[in-house]
Amino acid sequence: MAATVVRRDLERTGRCRRRALRALEESLQHRQWWVTEWPEGADHLPGLVAQDVQEAVHAQLDADWPPCPEHRDHALFVEPDLGPDSFWVCHRTGLPIATLGGL
Ligand SMILES: [Zn+2]
Repeated sequence: MAATVVRRDLERTGRCRRRALRALEESLQHRQWWVTEWPEGADHLPGLVAQDVQEAVHAQLDADWPPCPEHRDHALFVEPDLGPDSFWVCHRTGLPIATLGGL
């Protein structure tokens, strides 16, 4: 679920490359442990994994991901940052842009 939605957003934004995919794999492995400790947190996984990949892309590729489709000069962020049914949100307008996996 988390892997599917984040991979789809990477594909739609042209970022589905080796390093981003490796960041996705690493996040999934790390978060898998977290879910075994706290099974109720499974619904939170897509948002957490999306944020992990976002941070990794920023750190490794010095790129903002995903770019805001309205402004292009900043990245969207995940809201809520810890919760189910997360959205990509433009911080400038405060409005939701897309569900995770729906970019
Ligand atoms: Zn924006």
